[in-house]
This record gives sequence, C-alpha cells and structure tokens, in this order.
Amino acid sequence: MFLSDDITKEGNPVLREQCKEVTLPLSDEDLETLKGLHEYEVISQIDELVKKYKIRPGVGIAAPQVGVAKRMFAIEMDDFLDDNKHYSFCCVNPKIVERSKEMTYLPGGEGCLSVDRNTCGVVLRNNKIVAKTWLYDFNTGKLSFKTLRLEGYPAIVFQHEYDHLDGIMFVDKLIDEDKIDHKNQIVFPLYTIEDDEEYEDEEENA
Ligand SMILES: [Zn+2]
Repeated sequence: MFLSDDITKEGNPVLREQCKEVTLPLSDEDLETLKGLHEYEVISQIDELVKKYKIRPGVGIAAPQVGVAKRMFAIEMDDFLDDNKHYSFCCVNPKIVERSKEMTYLPGGEGCLSVDRNTCGVVLRNNKIVAKTWLYDFNTGKLSFKTLRLEGYPAIVFQHEYDHLDGIMFVDKLIDEDKIDHKNQIVFPLYTIEDDEEYEDEEENA
C-alpha cells in the first residue's frame, strides 16, 4: 500500500520523465504498482481510512507519483455535475485519440498529490476526449481494451493523469482566468462560481 511518504513531490525527476509503455501481459511487479495506485484511490473515497492512514485524498494517481515511470494510472471519482456518477479506472497504456475543440477548466483550479503548495490560476482542458486504453479490473483480475468517451469533470481528471505520463504537471499549464483568450478558442468554466460554494468540499487533488 502506498502512503503519504511514498508520493513523489514536485522537484523529483521521475515526475518529469516520459513514462514507458507497460509490457503486456502485466508483470507481477507492474500489477503490484497498479494495485497500490488503485488502493490509494479506494482509500481516498473513505473518510475514516483517509484519517487512519493520514493520506491526502485524491481523485487520481499516476505511476510516476509513486516513483514508477510507466504508463499507468488509477482514477476513482464521482462526477458531482452528473448525479455523482462514479468512475473507477485502472488504466494501462492509455492513449487519447480525440480531443474536442471546446475547452473547459475547473474554476477553483486543479490540485495534485505531488504539489504541496497553493497555486494561482486555472488549467484549460479539452471538454471531451476519446481515449483507448487497457483497463484492469481488480474484481475479475482481467485486462480489457476499451474506448472511453469522457466529458467535463472525468475528462479533466483523465487529462491531468495522462499528462503525468508525459512528465507534465498541471502547474506547467496554469493561466490566469482573466487572461483566457476567448476570441480564438471556445472556453467555458466547468461550473459557475455560484455553484462553487456548494462544491467547496470537493477535493480536486490528482
Ligand atoms: Zn497530479
């Protein structure tokens, strides 16, 4: 199980590596890493366990965040804008194959388990993506190749994790919300500021 001390932090070179494709079928070592990422996310969803293990909760975690430069990440999240629809993915060798022209962003900005400081600004993400990926199911122990069509919040989380596999951190992409170029691109906030208060307890760490 990965705990707080296992999370690599900003400045650690592994977070800047171009991660390698994972060899399939999964080796025992890679499966162990993926299991650890999945467990971290499952614990993140349960307040008592977050307190017990003193971890910082997150909605996603990528392999380089535990020091492994391989193309794997786990996402565990509820889409608070879509009836709390639950998303649970253990992705291996994901590839984003389509991105919408429309861009969106979290008005409160993004967070990251590897970044322990306050940041200013927002990150523009494609509002819709299509990704092809291997998904590992820990209930069945099976790996299957899937096409995911994601929109809004889950698409943002997926892109945040996907960037980690290319050594990109959300802090690299921060822009001032007031300086968004609305003339040359279609950009809208994921939700309006009025809604912000209602969702202020949402954790956006990934
Ligand atoms: Zn992150």
